[in-house]
Amino acid sequence: MQSIVILGAGHAGFQCAAALRQQGFTGGVSLVSDEGRLPYQRPPLSKGYLLGQTSAADLAFRAESFFREQRLTLVRGLAESIDRQAHRVTLQNGESLPYDHLVIAIGSRPRRLPVTAARRRR
Ligand SMILES: Cc1cc2nc3c(=O)[nH]c(=O)nc-3n(C[C@H](O)[C@H](O)[C@H](O)COP(=O)(O)OP(=O)(O)OC[C@H]3O[C@@H](n4cnc5c(N)ncnc54)[C@H](O)[C@@H]3O)c2cc1C
Repeated sequence: MQSIVILGAGHAGFQCAAALRQQGFTGGVSLVSDEGRLPYQRPPLSKGYLLGQTSAADLAFRAESFFREQRLTLVRGLAESIDRQAHRVTLQNGESLPYDHLVIAIGSRPRRLPVTAARRRR
């Protein structure tokens, strides 16, 4: 049985996991995230959530039961290194996860311009 480890449980990571099951993948699927909560939507954070119209619970993509029923394992941690030869990811807490396929969905952040004016705004 093949296993897939997905690093990052944001929109990309969560959707990848859900799509694997929708498409009939029956192997192990682990979603690694250091956020300590169910995968959630970010856009409402700066909209309805700030206005008090959306609760934190409403932000979750799916309830906990979805992950249980779909056999999507939520792993708490931050990937620190990937050993591509051994097909293993090591987390900051020392846990080591074997994988057949690895999905890297850890998001991105804007690159800061290396100019003085940009540095002053930090
Ligand atoms: C406040 C806010 C409002 C937004 N509003 C809009 C909007 O209105 N419209 C729109 O189109 N987009 C909006 N966005 C952007 C949109 O939410 C992002 O494009 C989207 O979240 C990107 O998803 P992602 O899964 O690629 O990355 P992310 O959401 O960044 O998720 C990456 C995940 O990977 C985890 N991670 C990082 N490093 C590691 C590691 N080493 N090991 C394990 N996990 C790791 C992170 O903790 C995070 O959980 C908004 C974003 C924010 C924050």
